Amino acid sequence: MALRNILTKEQPALYKKCRPVTEFNPRLHQLLDDMAETLEKANGVGLAAPQVGVLRRVVLVIETNVPEGEPEKLLELINPEILETSGEQDGPEGCLSVPGEYGMVKRPMNVKVRAQDRNGNWFEAEGTGLTARCFCHEFDHLDGIVFTSKCERMLTEEELQGGEVEAEEEKEEN
Ligand code: ZN
Repeated sequence: MALRNILTKEQPALYKKCRPVTEFNPRLHQLLDDMAETLEKANGVGLAAPQVGVLRRVVLVIETNVPEGEPEKLLELINPEILETSGEQDGPEGCLSVPGEYGMVKRPMNVKVRAQDRNGNWFEAEGTGLTARCFCHEFDHLDGIVFTSKCERMLTEEELQGGEVEAEEEKEEN
């Protein structure tokens, strides 16, 4: 495994539409393993392939809504699609490609998705709260959309330092 560089918002690759994955080969597996290592090192909850400069429809999402004492689950989603959404949440969102900036973004509260695993098998997954937000945020990356274009407003330094963001995030995870 190897760490990959995370592109930042100035780089044009982040605004391109990604192509579907057609070959489920060792090269894809290497990409997934590298992305997992990169995500862990960056301490994020999700990462999309274009963020490491690969314009393919591949994302990782960490399912943080797990029973107490159980490890968080890393989901590998290839060629993902949203099947259903319900509810709404409005909260602060950030991105590893936009370090240090957070903004308020409305997302559905519950999201049901389908995707292929690293061997090409289709599966379904459901996310709520932070995981639902993460599905939407990462899938947007595959269409060249960075969250800042969906922000109703960016948060100020005072709001960030006031702990408002952390309080909101805790609420979402509960
Ligand atoms: Zn992002």
